[in-house]
Amino acid sequence: MRRVLILGATGSIGQQALDVVQRNDELTVVGLSAGTKWEQLVELARQHGVSRIALADEYAAAKASESWTGGDVLSGPDGLIRLIAETECDIVLNALVGSAGLGPTIAALGEGIDLALANKESLVVGGDLVTQLAEGTGAQLLPVDSEHSALFQLVAGERPGTVDKLVLTASGGPFRGRSKSDLAAVTVEQALDHPTWKMGGKITIDSATLMNKGLEVIEAHHLFGFDYDAIDVIVHPQSIIHSLIQLNDGSTLAHLGYPDMRVPISYALNHPSREDVPLRPLDLAELGSLTFEQPDRDAFPCLRIAEAAGRAGGSAPCVMNAANEVAVEAFLRGEIPFNGIPALIERTLETVAAPPIGHFFQLAELDEEARVKARELLAEIPV
Ligand code: MG
Repeated sequence: MRRVLILGATGSIGQQALDVVQRNDELTVVGLSAGTKWEQLVELARQHGVSRIALADEYAAAKASESWTGGDVLSGPDGLIRLIAETECDIVLNALVGSAGLGPTIAALGEGIDLALANKESLVVGGDLVTQLAEGTGAQLLPVDSEHSALFQLVAGERPGTVDKLVLTASGGPFRGRSKSDLAAVTVEQALDHPTWKMGGKITIDSATLMNKGLEVIEAHHLFGFDYDAIDVIVHPQSIIHSLIQLNDGSTLAHLGYPDMRVPISYALNHPSREDVPLRPLDLAELGSLTFEQPDRDAFPCLRIAEAAGRAGGSAPCVMNAANEVAVEAFLRGEIPFNGIPALIERTLETVAAPPIGHFFQLAELDEEARVKARELLAEIPV
């Protein structure tokens, strides 16, 4: 029996992970966390017989403690770290949103616990330090991002030195095909309407700006140790091919399936075995055609900005990610237009120095500094 701890249990990935665990006799959930949704978290704990939960929000944790007598309620950022360190578990699923996921990633890998990683910002911000920590403790890093799960499965079958290129597919988001001037007036509601994946607000906006794909390029660089020149992005609106690898003999291998996050979640939680997921088999004749196009880095500069930050390396992706989180929040609140998101990120990268980083605490400080500066720079973004 594999004991699973789910961080971000009330979000889209957390919910689908609970569905995967419930259908599988070999998996059991032993701890759950959420940010503020204490009523929903307590209900999930009851349903799944879990006796340890953590809420990042202290007020929500206090409310949960008052109303639930079924187990321990831990609170605040420390509570999340204690949940990981003090709960006997075999694998942690990190489905937190944003750089807030880095602390739990460090805690799990530091304890030598295998990590199913849906929080791509952990690798974008923590990069080399996170992969070094995993190597140091022997904990496995198992990607839950659909593209990276596909690449992980494809690369596993090949000998070192035979994979020339990783090719990440992108749906293109709701604004595929639009020009920069078309994008000037798009609304929050339009940006939240993703064509193929149902996800939370932050990642849905990141998908609309193509920042999500930029973050994924950096994530792939760290997970698989490939140079940026050997990582390509191709737009594939149907989201049926989840990624491809190009090999030294001219072969290209692809991973296909209907878009459903339970597939990568199940693969990560059950690795190295492959368990049943109730999806209908892929019907290519019904789909008829799959199409591809180059990403438009002029209309969607976030992809170009992220690729450049990845190539710059060091702490540049940390600064970029902090600015993006501030920009997306501001867009969702109606404070800046859609094209203000890349503008704010570029201004922040110009303003905040990205020094070499040797320790995790320096990343946390830089993340905070970049957020403060990005919030100041919001005033400069034309509305
Ligand atoms: Mg993805």
